[in-house]
Amino acid sequence: MSPPLVLVDVDGVLNPFRRPHRRFRHHRVHPDGQSFRVWLDARHGRMLRALAAEGGAELAWATYWEDEANQWIGPRLGLPRLPFVPVPAFPGVEEGRSLGAWKARHVAAWTGGRAFVWFEDQADAAETLAGTPGVGDHLLVRVDPVTGLTPEHFEEAAAWLTGRRPGPPADR
Ligand SMILES: [Mg+2]
Repeated sequence: MSPPLVLVDVDGVLNPFRRPHRRFRHHRVHPDGQSFRVWLDARHGRMLRALAAEGGAELAWATYWEDEANQWIGPRLGLPRLPFVPVPAFPGVEEGRSLGAWKARHVAAWTGGRAFVWFEDQADAAETLAGTPGVGDHLLVRVDPVTGLTPEHFEEAAAWLTGRRPGPPADR
């Protein structure tokens, strides 16, 4: 059985909307030739790698940055190149679509029944996952985009991953 995935969003998760703490450093990045300012906490890379290693899981990006996250975000956090969920450009708000629901639809397709924990700031992603048949066992860790990832989010994810691991054989 494939190990569970740890899916990571960028904006509102690794890159909060405001600088929440002095550990966050300002970076100027240029995905697709555009210029953005991002706030990143370098400790998050180590924390994500530890979470995956200790939980027997694999890291992947679930962000509209797609592969650009490997160029502009990962190296600044000490993360290796990671697989990413392909998320086509958001088609707009017609038919009640939202950014979170659109991304969740592609997360559901890409994970293909694998278990995953997902750090995400869009609340409506959970609703979409719940209504999509065939989605694997999952935990959506809702992140406040003002604060970004906190130690409590890591604890929640670690507890879920630990709870899924097969325990040692029971004593007879
Ligand atoms: Mg986001």
